[in-house]
Amino acid sequence: MTYYSISSLVIATTGLFLGFYVLFKNRRSLLNITFCLFSFSIAIWSFFYFLWLLAPDYDSALFFARAFMFGAILIPVTYFHFITVLLRISDRLKTFVRFAYLICLSILLANFTPFFITGVGSKLGFQFWPNPGILFHPFLFCYFFGLVAYGLFLMIKTIYDPDYSRTFKNQIVYIFWGTFLGFLGGSTNFLLWYNIPIPPFGNIFVVSYVITVAYAIVKHRLMGIETVLQKGAFYTLLTGFIISFYAVLVLIFERLFQGIVGYTSVIGGALIAFIIAILFQPMLRTFQNVTDRIFLRHRYDYQKTLRTLSREISSKIQLEEVAGLIVSTFVQVMKVSEISFLVFDKGRNKYKSVDLSSISTDGRYKKIEVNTNGYLVEHLRSTERILVLEEVEEELARERFDKSKLENILGETKPIGFRLWMPIMLRDQLLGIIAVGEKLSGDIYTVEDMRLLNTLASQTALALDNVRLYQEVLEMKNYNEEVLNSLVYGVLTTDENGIIRSSNPSMCKIIEKQLRDIIGKPYKDIFQGKNPLSISINSTLQDKCFYNFEAGLLSRKKGLIPVMINTTLLGTPSKKTGMLLAVRDLTEIKELENKARQADKLQALGTMSAGMAHEIKNPLSSLRILSQLLPIKYEDPEFRTKLIDIVPQEVSRIDRIVESLLRFARTTKMKFSTVDIKDYLEEILKDYLRQAKEGQVKIVKNYANLPEVTLDKDQLLQVFSNLFVNAIQAMPEGGTMTINTKVGKEMEGLIQGVLVEISDTGHGISEENLKHLFDPFFTTKYGGTGLGLTIAHNIVEAHRGEIKVTSNLGQGTAFHIYLPVQQ
Ligand code: ADP
Ligand code: MG
Repeated sequence: MTYYSISSLVIATTGLFLGFYVLFKNRRSLLNITFCLFSFSIAIWSFFYFLWLLAPDYDSALFFARAFMFGAILIPVTYFHFITVLLRISDRLKTFVRFAYLICLSILLANFTPFFITGVGSKLGFQFWPNPGILFHPFLFCYFFGLVAYGLFLMIKTIYDPDYSRTFKNQIVYIFWGTFLGFLGGSTNFLLWYNIPIPPFGNIFVVSYVITVAYAIVKHRLMGIETVLQKGAFYTLLTGFIISFYAVLVLIFERLFQGIVGYTSVIGGALIAFIIAILFQPMLRTFQNVTDRIFLRHRYDYQKTLRTLSREISSKIQLEEVAGLIVSTFVQVMKVSEISFLVFDKGRNKYKSVDLSSISTDGRYKKIEVNTNGYLVEHLRSTERILVLEEVEEELARERFDKSKLENILGETKPIGFRLWMPIMLRDQLLGIIAVGEKLSGDIYTVEDMRLLNTLASQTALALDNVRLYQEVLEMKNYNEEVLNSLVYGVLTTDENGIIRSSNPSMCKIIEKQLRDIIGKPYKDIFQGKNPLSISINSTLQDKCFYNFEAGLLSRKKGLIPVMINTTLLGTPSKKTGMLLAVRDLTEIKELENKARQADKLQALGTMSAGMAHEIKNPLSSLRILSQLLPIKYEDPEFRTKLIDIVPQEVSRIDRIVESLLRFARTTKMKFSTVDIKDYLEEILKDYLRQAKEGQVKIVKNYANLPEVTLDKDQLLQVFSNLFVNAIQAMPEGGTMTINTKVGKEMEGLIQGVLVEISDTGHGISEENLKHLFDPFFTTKYGGTGLGLTIAHNIVEAHRGEIKVTSNLGQGTAFHIYLPVQQ
């Protein structure tokens, strides 16, 4: 007797539990609701069956018998309702279902009258077996078997209906077998009524079919037969365990309490059932692990696959590597018949298979192309879900209004092959597609497969993003390198500590060093001492940048080479990461400038020769006249005085002209030295103090605090002395000569040029004369050469400086001389 009571208690608890479990998985789904009702019916039936088995007397036995019949009456109608919903034909059979419920209701009412159960009596070992009333047999054959058979028939019809998809049919197939076996087992309960001496041992089948169906509903999507069977095995194991567990507990209970309170199985059994219900979940997990280990060992271990894959994939930076890894995982682990890994091809505006000739896939890797504007891409992009062609086919089999979209997708994908299209999405972007064919085993994709695929897709998306970033960085790097390599500018960067990080060939040429010898070294080791590069890097790192700063670099081969230096800080104002130095070799430019200057000079020389001929002619002709007169007027004392007076004067005039000319024509090599401009001017001025005093010229001086200036002392002496003389000569009635020095050009706090201004309060220069001021031989003075300013102009230019004049007629003149600090 204990076996029946145990099995019915197990059915009651599992039925109750599964009913709730399925209901809470989706409380709104009619499928889940109908299953829950079906489950509860079974639970009611078996719970009262359990109590009935343990009933001590006639009255309680009759009551519990009617109570379990209550559940039994509900079973067929709830089962049928559930099947119609499952087969999606509940709408069509609505009236029939309602009618069945009506019948059910009337039988329920009859159940509490002797028409259904007349009483209980002894039968084949059962003390209180219910005796059937007149309504009992019609109930059993018309209502119970009728509805069950109709339900099973509907399922068979579906299985042979070509309109349904393979996946769906597979599900129906096992639900069919599950319920068929369940009812077959359950039917053993009826045998005793027809005097067939087989006890209701089949009860236990009811458990496994309830569970099988429940599992199918919860994981309705893409449930594999294989998985179901394994889960079925698992639940059978679980059931066996619960039963033996329960049996042991009951035995212990009976032993312990029989002596104390008499017969205790009802209380004990209920208590144990309660405990089992509590322990169900943890036991479920333990058993799942155990069965997984037993049954799933030959299959792939998802966790392990994923772990290995995610570890490996994150280190891949080449597209081929990522694609290769994914493809070989699919081929080896999931054993797919065909596969392709597509990424977006910008050039062709298509999704194209990655070229994977390097990995072996037994020819399962197929190369395909998918239209970017096609239905498939649009679908993958909008749903962001794996597209399973089986599902599409199944959808199409249903009554739907917008079939055309799905038909289009099918139309596009069918000719290509492949059953599964996996979008690789990242931030709303379809980076690529993985197309997979059927499994070689012929199995369909299970829930676990889909879960693995989804995880794989997101892993792949991240990996592809990495690939893209890496490519971008690489391209950027190559681009930068190309730009750097082709620059005429020498470029060098350092980090914030002055360690050289990068440079280019032009820089290497300028500083005459190999790239490998400077990268990674502190700049101070490369540019020693007062090297302008070292100075500019140092001050830039201290936030003082250089802009178009001209300097000379000492070269072992070429001596001093003129360069222009520009620097900038790298990073953000709040956090500098280093600096960039750009150096331009000005040698060629300077050479060109020199050539141009030489050409200018030649041209000037031509102009000058003409002027000079004229200039020299005057004193020469007066000398000739004097020499011609000499024999005649030799005795004339007046003539002699005149001769003594004029000859040296004219000769020195010629001499001056020739001397100036020679100086002008000579491309004298400059001899640079650094001077304090104030001291330098003072020294020149010393020679003109007397002349100024005689001419009643007051001298005012304003010297600014300036750095030392590099210049050719001898040459600039000519410039300043001529300017001083010109100024004094412009003030025959006396006046003031002012000498100012100022900052000429300043960059980032660094003085790059000085300005010397020499102004007078003399007669000034007319606008007409201003135009010719620097022309050779332009003079307004008697005995003047008109070469002073021409020479001054040339010398200042040779120093890369500038000379300018401003003048107001009758008020005075000012000369502005700009000189760069460095040469
Ligand atoms: P020179 O002094 O031999 O005449 P320069 O080339 O030095 O030759 O000067 C050219 C001319 O420019 C002078 O003759 C004079 O007319 C004009 N000039 C130069 N400096 C001044 C000045 N400070 N004030 C007025 N005129 C000047
Ligand atoms: Mg002069």
